[in-house]
Amino acid sequence: MKNKHNRMDSTGRRLVLLPLPFQGHLSPMLQLGNILHSKGFSITILHTRFNSPDPTNHPHFIFEPIPGTDDNIINSLWGVENLLRLLNYINNELVGPIRTCLERLMSDDDHGVACLITDAHWFGTQAVADALKLPRIVHRTSSIASFRSFSSSRLSDPDIKSEPSILSPESIKVKDLPEFVNNDPEGKQKMIELMVQGIKQARALIWNTFKELEEHELEALSQDFPSPHFLIGPFHKYFSGSSSSLLEQDQTSLSWLDKHPPNSVLYVSFGSIVKVNKSQFLEIAWGLANSMQPFLWVIRPGFIEGSEWLEPLPDGFWERIVKGRGHIVKWAPQQGVLAHRATGGFWTHSRWNSTLESICEGVPMICSPFFGDQLSNARYVSDVWKIGVRLENQFEREEIESAIKKVMVDREGLEFRNEIINMKGKIDRCIQEGGSSYSSLEDLVNYILSF
Ligand code: UDP
Repeated sequence: MKNKHNRMDSTGRRLVLLPLPFQGHLSPMLQLGNILHSKGFSITILHTRFNSPDPTNHPHFIFEPIPGTDDNIINSLWGVENLLRLLNYINNELVGPIRTCLERLMSDDDHGVACLITDAHWFGTQAVADALKLPRIVHRTSSIASFRSFSSSRLSDPDIKSEPSILSPESIKVKDLPEFVNNDPEGKQKMIELMVQGIKQARALIWNTFKELEEHELEALSQDFPSPHFLIGPFHKYFSGSSSSLLEQDQTSLSWLDKHPPNSVLYVSFGSIVKVNKSQFLEIAWGLANSMQPFLWVIRPGFIEGSEWLEPLPDGFWERIVKGRGHIVKWAPQQGVLAHRATGGFWTHSRWNSTLESICEGVPMICSPFFGDQLSNARYVSDVWKIGVRLENQFEREEIESAIKKVMVDREGLEFRNEIINMKGKIDRCIQEGGSSYSSLEDLVNYILSF
């Protein structure tokens, strides 16, 4: 009897995919698995038990937990403030078990493993791939523009604040440089250097973006990173309805939207990781209330520091102030919400999946970036692509109210909408036969088959 590792699809080649255990990293890697599976590859997902994907959503994949790991440690390091410690831990402690697992998979299969595809943050796996003579391809879950701001800036340099001209891309300002929620600039610089080095040593890079959006950025990046780049996004548009959500999505979001006219509702969500303090939360709440626009607001339990859920909302806020203009959920079916005709704007933390999903549905954005690549994504949305506004003071109720009116009511909002609908048209074409992402995917498949 064949064991599960002998299950082969039409190319007869197995790919091992290694995602980072965060929602915003896991989803695109699983979507990439779906895309490559549709091209005839067998897909094995190597994953931590912590935040492990649900195999029932992907019955065509084989799931392999990384053996012998203490996921309690990962659990204890969960949270933005521990990001660097978590990345150090997984890249030092889990690389041995990953090697053991890869060796077993490589010897199990008649056809072997064609290549390892890892998240860029698994930089420690390059040494393993080299030792096993296994080609490693990196998937970077950000835009090319924001990766350039990571890779080309001397972030730990104390002179950087007085030397903005060294920044690249040119549109990025000093305040948009990747920040992390900790005070360890050296640790941050070291981590970025290791990630960049790991990418340079990999065979190729896969991006969840598309050529029409980032051609200029790609040209500039290729000078420092000459290995092949495959721009095959947006991943989530290849197959509808496949879910990789780690949390249950509240479907009342869609039935509530059904009751509203086209483009009338502001969708508000800050993703799966970031948190706000109570005073920031109240500024958000009052900004929303004072704008007088209908809103659908995702508030994850734990989003407000020190609170379980909605306790900091002032008494009577919902009944006397909002009066039915708002709907709160713990987690939404975001792609469906953005595609809903009633959704007219998206107030986002500007991580790449949310930004790309909004572009795909032609929804203009209000950007409140917190850290990492969110800062440069927000700058691109407001200053380069001109498809939204960036809140420069983060959370301040008057600025919020005026930004909401600008996007939802004013003439400027209409201009953002026209611009983003134009982009949506390009996206719709790029994954069709002959489109840029379609062709790049063909190139990627041939590239992998050449190993
Ligand atoms: N998401 C969702 N429901 C929500 C909020 C977010 O399904 O209520 C999904 C969203 O569609 C996106 C992912 O979670 O695919 C968040 O990824 P992103 O890179 O935007 O942010 P992160 O969570 O990594 O900060």
